[in-house]
Amino acid sequence: DQLFDYILWIIIFSLVVGYYFVVPIGGADMPVVIALLNSFSGVAATATGFIIQNDALIISGALVGASGIILTNIMCKGMNRTIWNVLFVGIKVSTSSATSGEGVQKTAKSYEPEDTVVIFENAKQVIIVPGYGMAVAQAQHMCHELEKILEEKSVTVKYAIHPVAGRMPGHMNVLLAEANVSYDKLYDLDQINPEFEQTDVALVIGANDVVNPAARHDKSSPIYGMPILDVDKSQTVFVLKRSMNPGYAGIDNELFYNDNTIMIFGDAKDTVSRLIAVLK
Ligand code: NDP
Repeated sequence: DQLFDYILWIIIFSLVVGYYFVVPIGGADMPVVIALLNSFSGVAATATGFIIQNDALIISGALVGASGIILTNIMCKGMNRTIWNVLFVGIKVSTSSATSGEGVQKTAKSYEPEDTVVIFENAKQVIIVPGYGMAVAQAQHMCHELEKILEEKSVTVKYAIHPVAGRMPGHMNVLLAEANVSYDKLYDLDQINPEFEQTDVALVIGANDVVNPAARHDKSSPIYGMPILDVDKSQTVFVLKRSMNPGYAGIDNELFYNDNTIMIFGDAKDTVSRLIAVLK
């Protein structure tokens, strides 16, 4: 009876602590917290293993604990934030950059997929930059199709993979592998960034924060300091998304207003299939 009471109190205490630990954390940081909680569950399993003297539980718990904390660390590094910042500070949302410094309203150019043919046909190198929107639209198979068609036209196609594109580390790698994109066409941030300057077209498919140049220079931006893919340095940037809405960090993206950026609005899968149709 006393044992039952004891367990009941532990459960109630854990629920209260768990609730207050997680509630103040911004929804945007939830994937990091989930990885951290996974790691904690591993540590708890290890502790249980010691108490009931079960080696398998100790080993598997230690593996879960270690991999969870490694994953948490990778995500924090990719966002240029510390774990303390994620847990106790949250992400500040700034709406400052919709207009330029002088308060001038900026406009973005938009094309229909059919208007892009000449640019693609004259390109030597195209870098595809996938983001969370590609996952939402499930456009990875279409991307692979587009890659094949461009290669038939002697265009070199590479994929630039940002460490925190999507909503979990390796999100883009998994989706592209599912679509049979060859692994040696995927390039990490450090490998691909120097190449944008010699690239004719950067094709941004549903990515937003990971290509926001504000991270490089705008000290007031919540993503300041986060390493980004330098797509703005390529000759033409096509951005495929449904609207001007912000991404995960909730901030406007100055890339969309650059002279060399062209927005192509619509669901990424539909847009890429329209691109394929016109290029065929
Ligand atoms: P973002 O969240 O910045 O942007 C995704 C964009 O995709 C949106 O702006 C949205 O625009 C567009 N989109 C959504 N659905 C579709 C669709 N069906 N078709 C076309 N576009 C679509 O994504 P990124 O990948 O650039 O950045 C990831 C963000 O997630 C970063 O801020 C990162 O810090 C954060 N994060 C990542 C983690 C990770 O481990 N990968 C973990 C925790 C956080 P629209 O609505 O206009 O279509």
